[in-house]
Amino acid sequence: MIPKLNPELALDASIVAFSKALVAAGFSGDIETSYGSRLAVATDNSVYQALPQAVLLPKSTEDLVILTSLAQTSSFSHIKFSPRGGGTGTNGQALTEHVVVDLSRHMRNILELNLEQRWVRVQAGVIKDQLNAFLKPYGFFFAPDLSTSNRATIGGMVNTDASGQGSLVYGKTSDHVLALKTVLIDGNVLKTHKMATFEAEHRAEQPNSIGRIYRQVLDSCRQFRPQILAKFPRLNRFLTGYDLEHVFNDDLTEFDLSRIITGSEGSLGFVVEAKLNITPIAKYKCLVNVKYDSFESALRNAPFLVAAEATSVETVDSKVLNLARADIIWHQVKGLITDVPGIEMQGLNMVEYNSESQAEIEQKIAALTARLDGAIADKTDGIIGYQLTYDNAAIGNIYAMRKKAVGLLGNTAGRQKPIAFAEDTAVPPQNLADFIIEFRALLDSHGLHYGMFGHVDAGVLHVRPALDLCDPAQEQLLRTISDQVVALTAKYGGLMWGEHGKGYRSEYGPAFFGDELFTELRKIKAAFDPRNRVNPGKICTPFNSADSLVSVDGQKRAWFDRQIPVAVKDSFDSSLNCNGNGLCFNYEENSPMCPSSKVTKDRRHSPKGRAGLMRDWLRLAQQQGVDVLAQEQHLLRQADGITGLWQRIKNSLAKRRGEADFSHEVMAAMEGCLACKACAGQCPIKVDVPSFRARFLQLYHSRYLRPAKDYIVGNIERTAPLLARVPKLVNFVVKQKATAALLEKTVGYVDTPLLSVPTLAQQVGQRYSFNLAQLTQLTADERKRTVLLVQDPFTSFYEAELVADALQLLEKLGFNPVLLPFLPNGKPQHVKGFLREFAKTAASAAQFLNLLQQLGLPMLGLDASLVLVYRDEYHKALGDKRGDFSVQLLHEWLVQQSLPKVNNAAEYALLAHCTEKTALPATEKAWQQIFSSAGLSLKPVSVGCCGMAGTYGHEAQNLDNSKALFDMSWRAPVEQFGTEQILVTGFSCRSQVKRLVGDKPKHPLQALLAAL
Ligand SMILES: Cc1cc2nc3c(=O)[nH]c(=O)nc-3n(C[C@H](O)[C@H](O)[C@H](O)COP(=O)(O)OP(=O)(O)OC[C@H]3O[C@@H](n4cnc5c(N)ncnc54)[C@H](O)[C@@H]3O)c2cc1C
Ligand code: SF4
Ligand code: SF4
Repeated sequence: MIPKLNPELALDASIVAFSKALVAAGFSGDIETSYGSRLAVATDNSVYQALPQAVLLPKSTEDLVILTSLAQTSSFSHIKFSPRGGGTGTNGQALTEHVVVDLSRHMRNILELNLEQRWVRVQAGVIKDQLNAFLKPYGFFFAPDLSTSNRATIGGMVNTDASGQGSLVYGKTSDHVLALKTVLIDGNVLKTHKMATFEAEHRAEQPNSIGRIYRQVLDSCRQFRPQILAKFPRLNRFLTGYDLEHVFNDDLTEFDLSRIITGSEGSLGFVVEAKLNITPIAKYKCLVNVKYDSFESALRNAPFLVAAEATSVETVDSKVLNLARADIIWHQVKGLITDVPGIEMQGLNMVEYNSESQAEIEQKIAALTARLDGAIADKTDGIIGYQLTYDNAAIGNIYAMRKKAVGLLGNTAGRQKPIAFAEDTAVPPQNLADFIIEFRALLDSHGLHYGMFGHVDAGVLHVRPALDLCDPAQEQLLRTISDQVVALTAKYGGLMWGEHGKGYRSEYGPAFFGDELFTELRKIKAAFDPRNRVNPGKICTPFNSADSLVSVDGQKRAWFDRQIPVAVKDSFDSSLNCNGNGLCFNYEENSPMCPSSKVTKDRRHSPKGRAGLMRDWLRLAQQQGVDVLAQEQHLLRQADGITGLWQRIKNSLAKRRGEADFSHEVMAAMEGCLACKACAGQCPIKVDVPSFRARFLQLYHSRYLRPAKDYIVGNIERTAPLLARVPKLVNFVVKQKATAALLEKTVGYVDTPLLSVPTLAQQVGQRYSFNLAQLTQLTADERKRTVLLVQDPFTSFYEAELVADALQLLEKLGFNPVLLPFLPNGKPQHVKGFLREFAKTAASAAQFLNLLQQLGLPMLGLDASLVLVYRDEYHKALGDKRGDFSVQLLHEWLVQQSLPKVNNAAEYALLAHCTEKTALPATEKAWQQIFSSAGLSLKPVSVGCCGMAGTYGHEAQNLDNSKALFDMSWRAPVEQFGTEQILVTGFSCRSQVKRLVGDKPKHPLQALLAAL
């Protein structure tokens, strides 16, 4: 039995008092002080970890004013704060041991749009892609791009001066900031925008912090202008720190204080609103993928492409390309990056052209392709081929692949993982190829592995060398390489931090700025934040302060991970390997990625949050001397008997009395998971929450009793066949209001589904019955026409007509279907963490299915969420004993059959199951192909999770979230197309539509059957 886990982390009394005072003062946001909440923001995408004291999540500017004003009072004037957005920083910018102020949960409103003047006003927590989705119908977009655009916030972008692809044309965030509203640490609200210098001078006369700030910035930037102009390299990128240069225009008649705040990494105040310039979406776009025989050729060719008037040039090396090939993303891009026969593609430049005029873009493309054809014919410049597209969706897919590159690089086998610490160098583009050759030599001299990609047009290179920071020698290497890269970039006239900001690399600031200018930076910091209370340690400390900067050698995540035994780390690698890149925070409502994160907007309820909680749980368990793996083995072997039961009762009573145990926090996060497995398919590192979640549940319930609903769900495959013997009676009882109320109250189960009447047996009789002896006697001809249908508990007992239709369809196609006897699959047991029972179920099902495999007949299943368990969870539970049986989903098999063509004008919309489409990305295309070969039209619709996910939506505690998820992305297409026109592959999804809309939609096979 696992022990109680209590991290020794009592909150500072003043933080507790501050939290209470905040509520009393009218703070309307969330105040979170639990260990789990703090842990969820203790990391970003960097190698560092810092546990804050509390997380405050304001809802408005007023909340920030209340917070900062209260923090001025003497009892709380020692408390320090760090603003936070999406937490996607690569260098620990938003990490702190003090208090995190997270603006990303609630401050997500787009406030005002002015199309005539081309600007939009937004709150700081708005996500970049959210803003662009809002602007798209108006024909505009917010131009600065970044790879993390589906989760990074405007506040974060402003504070890191984010930029990325297309920056030569579209610029950096600071180039598009028209005005900012910033709450200062003393409670004053600073509104900044471009103004005449005399107006700034006038403002400088105010007798408050705002006047002090204007005075200091005017002084520093005017007095040191010559040194500033001499110091900053003339690059497309600006380094973070305070942009002393662009506060003024060239003749010093205009002044813009916003320029000091952009790129200040949260060290000056809390940006609450931004007024942003918006750019018309180019009418015509073309992307040319130019293929090279080496990465060096790609780099050396980039200046030619820029000179050919490209809007942007992005590059990836062969390592990134090969990783992409192995990922779900390749499915979308492979047609545009086909291999060149006989030559290995070692580098790729993605060259984009944008234009308002079709003639202009075509002319530029014609000129470029003529040059490329010539180079290919002459075998010059290492160019081996190219492909182009004018299709916006295809262009988007290529960039999605490029954006995923960092994540893909993180998914390497072994203990050495690619890490961010010298990952965004920028040098003048003409120096890039030579710089990279020397950079590679440097990394090679340390024997490191790495992949490279970047914005070659701007001279920005992304590289993450693989290190195992749990090894102290490799941690030391990080410092050595950092110092060497700083020197190398200086040699080539560039910067170590060209794009992602400084964070823990702030210690290199003084050397770069020089003493004189760094002193001015510190004076500016002192004018904004004299007592070093806002994101302390980042960028610089206030003038005259004795505080120090954070350092490259700061506390790393590896310090914690080292405490977990290697065998445990290897066994729980899925949670240990999460590198915090935040892809699972994807805001997009139509994407399947993490529904629980989307609906709660709570970082604990994301794959990253759960992986982080699991990791720390393993560490704390180790601290208490628990051998987690041995405990698991014990639990897999035997139940804990009467003494164990008595202990569990006692522990559960203590839990009821409110006894603290960190395991409860982990449990709460795991309970919110829908076990949809979107993370396992879409996370670039393949963080598979359901697999470690099931293991955690098993361990947790070795100490605490299980709720009754777990037993109901876990046993559903045993009880359903029994209940289906008297379906009418069962349904009658279930339909009674009193029963529903009782089930909800006692078991926490709602909207209990009704059994099929007539049952499957009644519908199909003996027509397709299974007889092993007969199957072994089939002639060769009969074998060609025989298929086996594997039953699952949901369709067989709750949607029997679908199984009957599947059998009929197979017959119509000229096959002899055989209905296999129902056999529990084990998924419900796995979901609830009954792993001992699951292993038994899996072993027995595998034995039967392996026996049938020998017949060499296709075995088909209808519901993806169950069929996929055979492929993944069975392997994990049974290892080699799983055998090599294969159950295909109907579409995987149908797509290989020739179908009769019908004349039918019906147009269907396909809403696919999220587990299915994330694990099998070809699903939608396969159904489309099947329909098209039958002469039918089927269009996939992008939807996220329907909110049902097995039994999740039937649990009373999840009901609100389940409905909210349905409303998020399903309701609109269901209402738009109607239940007649939509085709839905998932049993859960069909049930959810029925429950929340009233009619049950069809499975695609039913539409096919009706048409044939
Ligand atoms: C895989 C990957 C790829 C990346 N690619 C790019 C890229 O292409 N281009 C690029 O520029 N960056 C890139 N980044 C870095 C990162 O995404 C950006 O720096 C982004 O702008 C951070 O936004 P965020 O909302 O996550 O901010 P956070 O990480 O939460 O914070 C970043 C900084 O901004 C401060 N901050 C956040 N919100 C506020 C606020 N409201 N007021 C004051 N200060 C605030 C924080 O204190 C911190 O110092 C990448 C990161 C990853 C993990
Ligand atoms: S779970 Fe995956 S997607 Fe989410 S932060 Fe971790 S590695 Fe990134
Ligand atoms: S299984 Fe689904 S809900 Fe659970 S963490 Fe993964 S994506 Fe989120």
